[in-house]
Amino acid sequence: MTWQSQWLLKWFVPTFTSILVGGVLLGTIFWSAAQVDEVAALRQKDLVTLIVSQIQSGVAHDQESVTVWDDAVIKTRERDLDWMETNLGQWMNTYFGHDAAVVLSVEGSLIYQFIAESDSAPSSEDVLEAYLPLAKRLRQRLAIGDEDGVSDRVLSIGESDLTYVGSRPAVVSVKPITSDTGEIKQRAGEENLHVALRFLDGDFPRTIGDEYQFAELQFTIGGSPDKEHSQVALISKSGQGIGYFNWHPFQPGARVLRATLPVIGVSVLGIFIAASFAGHAIWRRSVRLDSNRQEFRHLALHDSLTGLANRAYFNSELADRLERVLPEEALSVLFIDLDRFKAVNDTFGHPVGDKLICLVAQRMSVLLPDSLIARIGGDEFTILIEGTCSEEVGGIADSIVKCLREPFSIDGVQVSIGASVGAAIGQGKADPIELTRQADIALYHAKSAGRNTYALFGDHMDELLRTRRKLEHDLREALTTGTQIEVFYQPIYCGDSSEPCSLEALSRWNHPQLGSISPDVFIPLAEEIGVIHMIGAFVIEDACSLIADLPSIGVAVNASAVEIGSPGYPLRVLSTLAKRGIEPARLEIEITESLAISGEEQTERNIAMLRAAGVRFAIDDFGTGYSSFSRVQSVTVDRLKIDKSFIRAIHDGRSRALVEAIINMARAQGLNTTAEGVETEEQRDALKSLGCDNVQGFLMSRPITRGEVMSLMVAQEDKIDRASGVRQLPSGPNERDAEANVSSRGQSAAPTG
Ligand code: C2E
Ligand code: CA
Ligand code: CA
Repeated sequence: MTWQSQWLLKWFVPTFTSILVGGVLLGTIFWSAAQVDEVAALRQKDLVTLIVSQIQSGVAHDQESVTVWDDAVIKTRERDLDWMETNLGQWMNTYFGHDAAVVLSVEGSLIYQFIAESDSAPSSEDVLEAYLPLAKRLRQRLAIGDEDGVSDRVLSIGESDLTYVGSRPAVVSVKPITSDTGEIKQRAGEENLHVALRFLDGDFPRTIGDEYQFAELQFTIGGSPDKEHSQVALISKSGQGIGYFNWHPFQPGARVLRATLPVIGVSVLGIFIAASFAGHAIWRRSVRLDSNRQEFRHLALHDSLTGLANRAYFNSELADRLERVLPEEALSVLFIDLDRFKAVNDTFGHPVGDKLICLVAQRMSVLLPDSLIARIGGDEFTILIEGTCSEEVGGIADSIVKCLREPFSIDGVQVSIGASVGAAIGQGKADPIELTRQADIALYHAKSAGRNTYALFGDHMDELLRTRRKLEHDLREALTTGTQIEVFYQPIYCGDSSEPCSLEALSRWNHPQLGSISPDVFIPLAEEIGVIHMIGAFVIEDACSLIADLPSIGVAVNASAVEIGSPGYPLRVLSTLAKRGIEPARLEIEITESLAISGEEQTERNIAMLRAAGVRFAIDDFGTGYSSFSRVQSVTVDRLKIDKSFIRAIHDGRSRALVEAIINMARAQGLNTTAEGVETEEQRDALKSLGCDNVQGFLMSRPITRGEVMSLMVAQEDKIDRASGVRQLPSGPNERDAEANVSSRGQSAAPTG
């Protein structure tokens, strides 16, 4: 998430939303208020116009209260000025607010005149000028008997208009003075006339304004003083503009607007706060989502145990970098495989195995802080380095081998493993798949070269790979034809006698072109390509058929972990024994130390089943794994075969003490011991003095063929017969012959155990 999106969500969106909503709200209310005010203004104008016309008719109507009256006819004829003063002047002024009254004779002469006193009272001339045209017109109408406008409410015809009286606007109305009873006869056109005058300025507008609720209603000659004011023009019948009534219009819309403005303000503020909250919430959520996404991405691209990159990440990074690399630059890929990791895992359990993997990752990260290191499998790692020459890459590979060779301390236990490293250098835009393939081949080469070393890819390795593929093919074929695999037997002697008490079956592969191939080469190959069961079954079959004819001797076979762990194994073994009628106790199965303590369920079940049937078990190459004595105590086997590396060094005090400890521990547990790889008299004597039960090695006999075993056993019987029951140490059971035999078959002189 960028700071821009943070700013956008936290501030821009809330502000924009509130402005938009507030604007729309305000705009709508303003618009409606303006509409309402406009309608109200029009109404008020109509009302003022109506009021003006009502004033005109009102003055005439008020007038009729005195002009249609018998007394008025009589009193004006009599020229009773007092009466006229009281009833036509003062009374009309007091009661109706008329500002002037005039009574005119038939001839048009002035009978009576009243002008209310004030500072701006008009002169008689001004009054005369105002009513004269109206009086003339009324007279004419009266003369012709025009009755237009007379109704239930209007009792007599009249003339009225808006006009100026002097400098003041006024309503002037002229009416004939007539009888209300009809008892006084008057000839049409001979009535006296009554003039009423009312000014429209002065107090009048205020009175009207109060009555009709118009604010600041006033009369002005010109237009309204400002735009705020509404106005209605006063126009005389002749079309002359008299002036204006103007007032401050009543604006209900504006009033509503003013009343609602605080509410709108609070609402907009509310919207802003709500939008800000929402923006913050969205921001927080997206930050959380973002970090989740990054976490997922990290998990998807990294190994959860070590935190290193995983295979997917490594491959994509390799492809990316190879894409970007310049033609003269180079990238190298290193494949690292830990040696003996499985043994550590089996011996100490997965938690220790996991810690070991983490420590390995840590060491490599410290060694190569700038390189991309990935864990691509249980104990497999890859490293991507920017190296140009084989010396540089070789140096790095070597330093990895060296640094992983140093012991690791885990939970107080010292664990030593090793590593094989294969490296391939990609010049320029190499193909990533080809580069990893080459590194893998180099790794295979390093492993084949005895592990704990490194190899740089070279073209010859492809050749090696081809050879291996061919070997795999040949092994499958050898197993189907069943003629190339042969079982040799190495006699094992009792420590205190010269008689072989058992034999160890060791298989050989007589390759038609390559000669004899060591089991150290083809057994792991058979395990890898899944044909080890065939070899195992073949060896047991051969061994059983051999000892079926030699009732005084037992036989030991080597079994690989894959075999022992397979569900059908016990049945296969027991049925082979039963077929030949062999006592199960005459067969011993040799298993590796790590397998013995692996805790693998099926393996344990199989071993228990076979042991229950009487088959014996031995731990082969004892001492090379990680079993502490205390762990071995819990393992149910019958024999420990002490590895030849300890026997070879038995002259050394430490090794001797170790061998002694193994023998004592085994004895305490009721286990037998066999020393492997006994090559010298000194070794045999030392083992004898330490109380080792059995010895096996080139000193007594090399592995020999089936035929040689038969000859050996026959010779043995003869020797017993000749010595009348006194047994002698065999003089190397046809040893020289056997050796010659074996080497003629290409037997490796120093196989690894
Ligand atoms: P191992 O079980 O430890 O067998 C003993 C190995 O030590 C044999 O090598 C044997 O020739 C060699 N050896 C015996 N005495 C001496 C001695 O005095 N000095 C020295 N330096 N070596 C001695 P080999 O026959 O080459 O077998 C190698 C390994 O291959 C065996 O080691 C065993 O683990 C495996 N192996 C052999 N045959 C079979 C088989 O049929 N099945 C399985 N699963 N593994 C087999
Ligand atoms: Ca063995
Ligand atoms: Ca061994």
